Amino acid sequence: MTRRKQIEELHEIIRKCTLCPLHETRTNAVPGEGPCTAHVMIIGEAPGAREDESGRPFVGRSGELLISLMHEIGLSRDSVFITSILKSRPPKNRTPTQSEISACKPHLERQIEIINPKIIILLGGVAISSLVGPWKVSEAHGRFYETDGRTYFMTYHPAAALRFPKVKVLMREDFQTLSQELV
Ligand code: SF4
Repeated sequence: MTRRKQIEELHEIIRKCTLCPLHETRTNAVPGEGPCTAHVMIIGEAPGAREDESGRPFVGRSGELLISLMHEIGLSRDSVFITSILKSRPPKNRTPTQSEISACKPHLERQIEIINPKIIILLGGVAISSLVGPWKVSEAHGRFYETDGRTYFMTYHPAAALRFPKVKVLMREDFQTLSQELV
């Protein structure tokens, strides 16, 4: 089966998933999008209101900032695969619980397996602690980390950068660091 077919089938499963209680409150599950041969995969925390409404990842204000930071280092939205730790929106955008993260993780692991990206960018503390380990984003940001044959790059979540101008400066610096590895 081609990678495209595998991803399409997986995303159909995710759209109908009832493995955690978030399926009761979501409008649409948000599996993620991008080329199934992408070299770069970006993983955020969970869908927000706009994503829940549209079924697409990072289409709100956080997405706008993320895409503009990507453009600054020559990455286009079309060239990366974008997804998140949870595929369904937590009510009022609350922080995901550990049981929701555990329930949803096999979907993400399967996406990583199929796409097999060269580098995985983790946005924010939830993404970092779910895939790399308990590391504060303030200490982990701007760093690469290799584990289980995967290369991760850690930075802030754009929602934090929208709230705190200092974080936006740090995030922009992190993307410059990242760009040196992507050339
Ligand atoms: S968050 Fe993940 S595990 Fe929970 S219902 Fe959505 S897709 Fe399923």
